[in-house]
Amino acid sequence: MEIYMSESKQLIYPLSQPLPYSLKQVTCYVVKGDSKLTIIDTGLHTKQTSDTWKQFFFEQGWSWNQVERIVVTHYHPDHYGFAGKLQEWSGAPIYMAKTEFDQIQSFWNRNNGNPKQVSSFFIPYGFPEHRSSQITRHMEEFRAVIEPHPQVIKWIESGEELDISGEKYEVIATPGHSKGHLSFFHHDGSFFAGDVILPSVTPNIPLLPDGDPNPLQTFLDTLDKLKQLDIKVVYPAHGEAFHLLEKRVEEIKAHHERRLDKLKSFLLDGKIQTGFEICEKLFAHRPLDIHNLRFAFSETLAHLEFLRINGEIKQTKVDNVYHYYK
Ligand SMILES: [Zn+2]
Repeated sequence: MEIYMSESKQLIYPLSQPLPYSLKQVTCYVVKGDSKLTIIDTGLHTKQTSDTWKQFFFEQGWSWNQVERIVVTHYHPDHYGFAGKLQEWSGAPIYMAKTEFDQIQSFWNRNNGNPKQVSSFFIPYGFPEHRSSQITRHMEEFRAVIEPHPQVIKWIESGEELDISGEKYEVIATPGHSKGHLSFFHHDGSFFAGDVILPSVTPNIPLLPDGDPNPLQTFLDTLDKLKQLDIKVVYPAHGEAFHLLEKRVEEIKAHHERRLDKLKSFLLDGKIQTGFEICEKLFAHRPLDIHNLRFAFSETLAHLEFLRINGEIKQTKVDNVYHYYK
């Protein structure tokens, strides 16, 4: 990946970290000021990630004590997972939203976290019981790739200024993909997006326990908000930097429009259907492993709830399971 120079003359080094999922990589960034370094997003805690970080610092001739800050855009393991280890190496504080840290603890803290809450949340929407234990096991597996948890964390919030290697960036709330998702905007047009906008895939918009009741509406509002900023270069957390934010916003909005239309078409026959039955129709063309099934199901629910809240479809409970109909 090429090294970028922002209009404020900061050097921005993208580092692609491998992921063992269908989303093959996460792009972390190192922003260099004079000699200070800021890391944005960290990768999963795997040996491969560890080796890639070490190799990269070695090639650049950097030492770990140059790292001044480690910034995490949101709670997902591919962004947060290696933060604790990077802190061990560098001593640098982590900067992230408290909402996101609380979410991590609620799923994955070994003492009081509850990885079961996702499957328990799914069951009333028709998710098959025999697969729900797979979801729980899968959630539990994430513990190993997000530990150690960092010890020193500074909470950041929307509207604050954050110093990234000597330049002031505005902290922008960009919820939808996760409820406390943050991005970072410099008035020179640089935008560290996290997962809010990606060049070649659409970010997953999930309905989850203890989350936003209408995450798709929140996400569409976030996309509109991004158009108000004078963003010239997007540094996304998957894929490579790109320009033309507005074009990508419109493509992603069109994708959700098509998906909403499709869901409505499934309900045209007037029969009541569970969220799971509708999800199986929506993703009938591809076999889903448990990881992708969790994404597909939570995303289907987010779309169904968007339609229900907007009065386009209705919901009824039969035998303790929600069914949707038009
Ligand atoms: Zn994410």
